[in-house]
Order: sequence, then C-alpha cells, then structure tokens
Amino acid sequence: MNRRLASPRLLHGSLAHAAEPRGAWARGFSPPGVWAEAVVALGANLGDRSETIVAAVAALRELPLVASVRVAPVIESVAVKPDGPDEDAPTYLNTVAIVRTRLAPAVLLAHLNRIEAEHGRVRMERWGDRTLDLDLVAYGDVRSDDPRLTLPHPRAADRAFVLEPWLALDPDAVLPGRGPVAHLARALSEPRPAPASRSLSEDARSAPETKRPATEDPS
Ligand code: AMP
Repeated sequence: MNRRLASPRLLHGSLAHAAEPRGAWARGFSPPGVWAEAVVALGANLGDRSETIVAAVAALRELPLVASVRVAPVIESVAVKPDGPDEDAPTYLNTVAIVRTRLAPAVLLAHLNRIEAEHGRVRMERWGDRTLDLDLVAYGDVRSDDPRLTLPHPRAADRAFVLEPWLALDPDAVLPGRGPVAHLARALSEPRPAPASRSLSEDARSAPETKRPATEDPS
C-alpha cells in the first residue's frame, strides 16, 4: 500500500577496475555503443531518507556516459518483507529515475552498488531495512536471467512503489516481457479476493461433493 507524501517533491537536485569478466556477464560489461534507457528504482528507509535520495540522484547524474536523468515524484511506502508488508518497520521513500546512458548494464549495476555502499548501506540481511537500495529495474528491452543481474528486475511487476513512480515519468512505459506498466500498476491496485479463513477452506475441502442442480445458472 503506497501513499503519496503530503507534499511530494520532485528531486532535482569511475568504476573501480573489476576482475576480467567472462560469459554473459562479460557482455554486460561491454559498452553497448548506443544510448539506452535504464530504469533505476531508489528506496531508503533509514537515516535522513530525503537527503540520501537527493544525494543518490546527484551521483547518478555524475556518472560517465550518462546523458540525462529524469526523476519521478517521491512516494512513501510501507516496508515489504518476505511475509508481506511490515507496518512496524520504518517506512520507505521511493522513486524511480530514467537514466539515458551508454554504460553497459553490468557496469551501471556496479555503479549502483558503489553508490549504495557510499551511502552506508550494510547488507546485514536480505529484505532488511536500509539507508539506500538501488535496483536496476530495466535496461532497454534487455532480458537476462543471470542471478548477478536479472533483467528486468524479477520483482518489479509486483512492486507498486516501482510501477507508480515509473508510470508518473512515462505513462507509456512497458516492462519487457510483462507488458504496459499502466496495466501492471492497475492490477496491483485492484482489491484482491480475501483468502477464505483456514477453517472455512478446510471445511470446504472436506465437505462431500454435491452435484449442481441442472437448473442452476452455471455462471
Ligand atoms: P538486494 O540486496 O535485494 O538489493 O539484491 C542485490 C543482489 O541482487 C546483488 O547480488 C545483485 O547482483 C543482484 N541483482 C540481480 N539482478 C539485479 C537487478 N536487476 N538490480 C539490482 N540487483 C540485482
């Protein structure tokens, strides 16, 4: 469940040499030679969250081979843990940036990891609270199932805090392989049928099968 901040604000505000990469990962280190649109999700739920997001956007703008960075209005969202939304955890500030770049996807991700580290992110636990989380949501229409860089990001379609800011920036955005972001965001905002209570569903499963009267409307 997302809620916009009372007064949402628009934020305007060299990679260290890696070991010789090989395989598909290596291709991700090769300059693509063409400009591509990368979608980056930013989130912060510890420390001075606004200041961190502003600084992260500034760091994106300073990257080499980056022509432009457009940033969506910031939203506030409840932290999502493996068991679902955690109302007790500090809330997140989230936004999305569209980065026009010639950096190859893996190089861009390495920069994102560096920017996270510079803002004090300590990976104590996966899904844990964090000063700054940067995810590469999509890079053009590139698809990758490499666990080091999965594209598009495997959970992007389930995250309203990614889809809503992305949609605000680009109403025609498409998540490669999943379809228009507008459709995905709408599906998330629609109320889902409440799961039947355990005893109710168990009763239903253990009840003897009854035949539908022939006159009953099958719809
Ligand atoms: P997390 O701690 O949830 O931010 O996950 C970080 C890990 O996910 C790192 O090991 C990344 O290499 C990996 N990863 C895979 N695909 C992506 C992606 N599209 N964006 C960010 N991290 C990714």
